[in-house]
Amino acid sequence: MNPCIRCTVKNITSKILSIILLSVILALSIFPERAFADPRLQTTGDHVVIVIDPGHGGSNEGANAYGPIEKNMTLITAQAMYAELSKYDNCTVYMTRNSDVDMSLSDRAQYAQNVGASFLFSIHYNASNDHKKYGSEVLIQKSTPFNNYGYQFAQLFLSAMGANGSLIRGAKTRNGSDGADYYGLLRETANRAIPAVIIEHCYLDYSSDLEKCNTIEKQQALGVLDATCVAQYFGLYSTSTGVDYRGFAATSLQSVPLGSSVVATLDEQTAPDACTVTQVHADKETGEVKLSVHGEDKDDALIYYDYSLDKGLTYSEYIPWPGNNALYNSYDEDFEFTVKLDPKKETYVVVRAHNMFDGDLASDPLKIDWENGEGKPEDTEDDRDEYVATEEPLVPETGSTSGSTSNVWGSSYLPQASTQDTHEYSTEEAVAPTETATDNTVGNSHKLKKKQKMAFYIAAFSIFTGAVITGGLIYIFMLMGKKNNRNSKTGAKVKHGKRRS
Ligand SMILES: [Zn+2]
Repeated sequence: MNPCIRCTVKNITSKILSIILLSVILALSIFPERAFADPRLQTTGDHVVIVIDPGHGGSNEGANAYGPIEKNMTLITAQAMYAELSKYDNCTVYMTRNSDVDMSLSDRAQYAQNVGASFLFSIHYNASNDHKKYGSEVLIQKSTPFNNYGYQFAQLFLSAMGANGSLIRGAKTRNGSDGADYYGLLRETANRAIPAVIIEHCYLDYSSDLEKCNTIEKQQALGVLDATCVAQYFGLYSTSTGVDYRGFAATSLQSVPLGSSVVATLDEQTAPDACTVTQVHADKETGEVKLSVHGEDKDDALIYYDYSLDKGLTYSEYIPWPGNNALYNSYDEDFEFTVKLDPKKETYVVVRAHNMFDGDLASDPLKIDWENGEGKPEDTEDDRDEYVATEEPLVPETGSTSGSTSNVWGSSYLPQASTQDTHEYSTEEAVAPTETATDNTVGNSHKLKKKQKMAFYIAAFSIFTGAVITGGLIYIFMLMGKKNNRNSKTGAKVKHGKRRS
């Protein structure tokens, strides 16, 4: 009996163990992204082949309206990058072009394939149609694992640019109409199974960004920065300079899940989900107004905000959204900023949130309340939370707002601010009693009272005349009834009546 039980128990135990083991293997094969790889995802062997691609060239100048011409800048940066990378032992470096020549995107990708590229880095400078954007971004391939490789390189490059004072616009994919990569170079290299990124260093049409790259020395320095990021990414080492990044990945590369594309890089052409602005404090003496902004975007990082003082006709420069980091879809949902305004003027403020894919959302207009802007304490976060919880009902009355739970407060302003004109028209036309007693409806309520009085008089007059006529008719019928009793002929009734009266 005993041995049999022991056998049975052993059998069951081993079966359970193998089921668990099989489940784990199955789970890992179905959900490989759950399995985090070594810090460096891309395995290359002992030696890497790096292809540097200076963007544009020849008749294709790239951005050419803002001082330095992009095709020249990319070549200068690429040559400096080439020189720097050539110092390392365990890599071979190529350039797709080394002079001012035209070259197609497929030729560049084909060149990379011919030399057995481990990775292609395409060097660019940016510009935008609205001339308001600034910052650095890396355009990457959408398909895994190249998407993940590109993201891991972009973490190094964008962090380095961020440390230099650039705004991080993110590592991003863009979908073409056919579902492939939108950018030709990324598509052509992906078709040839070559990892590639397009490095957009900064915007030539934005002064503070142009300042970072407007001399040959600065363009070369950016090439050295690029080369250093590549050396760190691949773990290069140099016996001539003593620089050794072989241990870099283990200590300094961030783990990136493999198996599916990185969510923060996915092309998302949707607007932010929320943007509201509320008034914290208005100082009539100095004209300083402190505003509180709340923004949300479930897909992307919010990276800039701008504001309008004329109900959205014109806007300020783009201002970095506090806490923004497009690499990790992170940003602060709430922040405050101060503007200086003319207390004698009626001002409506609109704030716009911009996400890393350049989608934007404008807040409802907020009318600055100078009269009730005094006496609001400049609270700490904790104080404000307490204030919200205990004194919220007072806020619409005092007209001053603050903090993260400002939606209710904001809405007390909004009917007044955003629909003032239509509000007036609708109250006059409908002659409906209104519960609003704000400044802009005082005139209307006076008119309303007059009309209501008129209506009362008309109604009273109607009832009075109606009663008189009805009474008169009843009297006449009664008289006719009496007449009929004496005389059966009805035709003489009126005459008799008239005559009698
Ligand atoms: Zn370019």
